[in-house]
Amino acid sequence: MDPRPRPRTAVLGAGEVPWDSPVAPADDAGLRGDGCFETLLVHGGDPARTVRLEEHLDRFARGAGQVGIPFDRAGWVALVRSLTGDVPAGTEAALRLSLSRSELGVATLRPVPATVRAGRDGVHVVTLARGTSTVPDAPWLLTAAKTSSYAVNSAALREARRRGAEDALFLDAAGEVLEAPTANLLWRAQGRWWTPPQAGRAVLPGTTLAAVTARFGVQERACRPGDLLRAEGAWLLSSLRGAAPVRSLDGTPLPVAATLTGALQRTALGL
Ligand code: PLP
Repeated sequence: MDPRPRPRTAVLGAGEVPWDSPVAPADDAGLRGDGCFETLLVHGGDPARTVRLEEHLDRFARGAGQVGIPFDRAGWVALVRSLTGDVPAGTEAALRLSLSRSELGVATLRPVPATVRAGRDGVHVVTLARGTSTVPDAPWLLTAAKTSSYAVNSAALREARRRGAEDALFLDAAGEVLEAPTANLLWRAQGRWWTPPQAGRAVLPGTTLAAVTARFGVQERACRPGDLLRAEGAWLLSSLRGAAPVRSLDGTPLPVAATLTGALQRTALGL
């Protein structure tokens, strides 16, 4: 038996369809970024375990509300259950839920990509100016919601790769760190855990950061790139990668604390 999770697709209200079937009409509003989505980690087994499902559904419902799309929570729970049932023990799967303006809800399940798993060993990061398109200037952009408008986030990752790195940290107009394109920032200094302030800023409230905060007591503090260079360690927190240690920032190496990373990773990955 192939020990990898089988790729699967299901449509809200219609159930499972062949993995590669074209489920969205060619002019679906979701293709123009008008919708919202979630990405979740599934640990295989009997039963399989979807990490922080309720927290993801809470944020999904909030995102749907922010963009004004009806949200069928019970329908999503049933869809997740039906798709995650046969993920083999000892494997991990990535589950993506997406909902578009046309109320097309799609769930896909596939193995966690190798590049994502590799990020758990560490990532090289560059800083990128987010410019003025942040919450105080343009709240209507919903930059702190997980909408499908990820063009800026994708562009940031492309630019990071062009510069020979794997990830990026956005800086606001004042030069303070916000978050990464698909992760929140955590760092350790003076024996404490810190993350940049979220309220009123272009920072998505991450479910991984919330779990790490509940376990380790993370506080908010404004952060400039120089603060990270003096830190005891820094990590990018997100559902699939867990706690990815930052190995370098704009080419300057950062300390990677293996013991701290191990402890963070267990909480981050829901182990
Ligand atoms: N920030 C952004 C912009 C994201 O897209 C994500 C996740 O994709 C996160 C933070 C981390 O969120 P979570 O920990 O819930 O995966």
